[in-house]
Order: sequence, then structure tokens, then C-alpha cells
Amino acid sequence: AAFSSLTDRLSNAFKHLKSKGKLSESDIDGTIREIRRALLDADVALDVVRSFTGRVRERALGAEVSQALNPAQQVVKIVNEELTSILGQGVDRPLNFAKNPPTVIMLAGLQGAGKTTLAGKLGYWLKDAGHTPLLVAADLQRPNAVTQLQVVGERAGVPVFAPEKGVQSDGGDAVSAPGETTGDPVQVARDSIALAHTKLYDTVIIDTAGRLGVDEVLMKQARDIRDAVNPDEILFVIDAMIGQDAVQTARAFDEGVDFTGVVLSKLDGDARGGAALSVASVTGKPILFASTGEGLKDFEVFHPDRMASRILDMGDILTLIEQAQRQFDEEEARKAAAKMSEGTFGLDDFLDQLQQVRKLGSMKSLLGMIPGMAQHRKELEQFDEKEIDRTEAIIRSMTPQERRDPKIIDGSRRARIAYGAGTTVSAVNGLLQRFEQAAKMMKRMSNNAGMGGIPGFGG
Ligand code: GDP
Repeated sequence: AAFSSLTDRLSNAFKHLKSKGKLSESDIDGTIREIRRALLDADVALDVVRSFTGRVRERALGAEVSQALNPAQQVVKIVNEELTSILGQGVDRPLNFAKNPPTVIMLAGLQGAGKTTLAGKLGYWLKDAGHTPLLVAADLQRPNAVTQLQVVGERAGVPVFAPEKGVQSDGGDAVSAPGETTGDPVQVARDSIALAHTKLYDTVIIDTAGRLGVDEVLMKQARDIRDAVNPDEILFVIDAMIGQDAVQTARAFDEGVDFTGVVLSKLDGDARGGAALSVASVTGKPILFASTGEGLKDFEVFHPDRMASRILDMGDILTLIEQAQRQFDEEEARKAAAKMSEGTFGLDDFLDQLQQVRKLGSMKSLLGMIPGMAQHRKELEQFDEKEIDRTEAIIRSMTPQERRDPKIIDGSRRARIAYGAGTTVSAVNGLLQRFEQAAKMMKRMSNNAGMGGIPGFGG
């Protein structure tokens, strides 16, 4: 992972502190030196390292004697807070949506930074959240960029607006000559907004051209597109693997297009990851997303505090859970859909689903062990694991035949099941009622499969 070597180095720096009961100034300075070296080796920009270590040192020296934390833990806590602060610039915000759709998101960055890939991921993520995104092919410069966006859009199931072909190549190294006419990206961007208005796309994601290095032609084109469509977000996409160049590139784009947020791409690479730590700090702009692979789902919302604890090897359980939930929902939907159309969804499948839901329960206890999770704990508290226990017990007291065909469960069977599950007949009735309702709804939905399975259409 991107930060693995930084993580190792930092935990080494802290290891030397662990045996100490009380820290002297020279203990702290020794640790600061190691932290400084670790950060520099991870390609964090020198200025950023300086101010970071300066703040950590000052706070560590002035740290109050604490009942709860030993001195070494206090230093880790300070480093964690300062890391969070340089990664986030005090901001942990979601994407800015326009009051009046469409929300316009423009992507900017060097060629190869991962913009086109990101467009697909962002589109997929927005669609997943109930939005109706449109991808716009305004990179008419890079050979085959338009085709690539179309492929990505198809994979993501998100429509692509691509009225111009742009530069195409058949694997050769065709590069557009300066001044070569490849269509007008500004016009494409402008037209895409008009299309979004008529077709009611609520978000427009504009992929723009990047060059191999920062140049004024590129910057002007990006600016022209910006001025034509007035984006709600201008996301600067930066390859986390580019090392020390990150700072210069970020500054150039900051001055050139005045972006509103950063996306770190290729955070999965075995890189030193210093760009992540420098870019936000140098530009004062928040990192909104991280791209962590070539797949559509290799994408996450960036939270500075979570990333800091990941770097410090303190775990990032919340992101893990969010990923698991995304996975879980999809898989469930697919399975349920298959059973629905076959008409074979029985109580055993219901039991399977309960097992899935139970995962939330183990998450609750997991979260309970992590300090500072109070706000999330409240949401999870409403989840009643005992209710699942009761439901499971009832289903397990049924015969396989009863589970497949609940209609045969008459009064005497209900009494037997209730007895076996150690519950009341009315609890058994309640469960069967809920199941019947669910089955009815599923039947209605699969009858409407021709309408895309949307309840309320046709049938
Ligand atoms: P663009 O020129 O900015 O549009 O960059 P592309 O989206 O074409 O990405 C350039 C290359 O980086 C492609 O080969 C992508 O598959 C790859 N890439 C993009 N994002 C990631 C990422 O998060 N992780 C990895 N490992 N590769 C990525």
C-alpha cells in the first residue's frame, strides 16, 4: 500500500519511546528527527515536513501530564492530530452539489493522472447513490481518450456525451500536433450542460485534456472550459506516485484553474505516498476522494482523520465497513433478483439474509472497542441483534418443507414451531406475515421485470 514504508518508519520512531516512562527534550528531539527522515523519504515536500515537525515538537514539549496516556502515546496522538490537519486543512467535506441541477464537476490534471478512470468511478459511485450522472468527453487531445471514456462509461452503466472523436490512434504513438483541429472541447462542455438540462442528468462529469507536463496551452483550455460551464467542483486529479513533482504540479494547477478539491489517484501503488501529505498542505485545498486501483469500485471518499490513522497503523475500520456494505448490498440485490425471477425465494433465503444483516451486529461490537466512535455508535445502537436471534430460532424450528413452502404452516404447526423456538405463536405469526408481504412485493416486482423491475410501472 501507498504508505506502508512510511507506516513502518513512523512506528519505529514511536517504538523507541514506548519504554520511556517520562520523556526528556532529547527523547522528543530524537523522535522528531526520525519522523522528519521518514517523511522526507516518503517524498513529502520539505516545507511541509518542516512545519509539521515543528508543530509536533512544540506540542510534545508542552504536553500536559495526562492520566489517560503515557508520554509515548501522547506523542502518537499529537502526530495523529497534526497528520489529520495537514491532510484535511481542517476540512472533511463531501462533494458540493448545486442547488439547481445539474451539478457540474470538472476534472483537471496531467495526462495519465487517472482522470478518465476517475470519471468512471465517480459516475458509478454517484449512480449508486441515486444520482443520474453524465460523463462528458472533453479530452480531445490524448489519443483514444474519448473511446476510453466510452468504455469506462459502459462498464459503469453511465451515459457518455461524446460528440467529437478527438485524437485517435491504433496503438501507435499519435500525438496531436499543436493547432491540430480535434473538435472544440469548450463547445462539447457547453453542449453537455444543455443536454443535462433537457435530459435531466443531475450531475455532469467533464473529463478534460492533460499534457505530460504543465503547459500554458493546457491550462488555458482548462480555464476556458471552466469559464464556459462554471463548475460546482473542479477536481484536481494527481497521481500519488509522482513524488516530489507533486507540489509543483499542484501549485501550477491551483494557479491555473483554481481547483476546489483534490483527488489522489493510484494510492494502491507501492509508492511512498508523500504527494498525499504535501498537496493539501501546499494548496490549502481539501482531498475529496482517493482512487485505489483500476477497477470501478477502487475508489473511496477521503477522510483526513481516517487516512491519518491508517498511516499510523491505527486502523481504518470505518472505511472497511463502508466498503463491505457497498459489496454486501450489491451481492444481495443480485441474489434476491435471481430468486425473485425464479419465484424460489423461501424462508431459507430469508435466513441467509439475516446472516448477512448480522454482520452489522459484529460491526457494532467492533466499533464499540474503538475510542471516539460515539457518534456512529448511536446509529448502530438501534440495531437489535436479539430480534435476529428470535427470528432465526423460529425459522430453525421449521422443517425444510415448511421453509420452502410456508403456506402449509397451519395452526398446529405454528404451535409446534413456537414451542421449539421458545417463543409465542403470535411471534411466529408475525414472522410469517412479514415474509408473506415480502414475497408478495417480490412477486409484483418480478412480474414487472419488463419495466426494469421497478414497482409501480405497468403490471
Ligand atoms: P488520464 O490521462 O488522466 O485520463 O488517465 P487515465 O484515467 O487514462 O489513467 C492512466 C493510467 O493509470 C491507466 O492505465 C489507468 O488504468 C491507471 N490508473 C488510473 N487510476 C488508477 C489507480 O487508482 N490505481 C492504479 N493502479 N492505476 C490507475
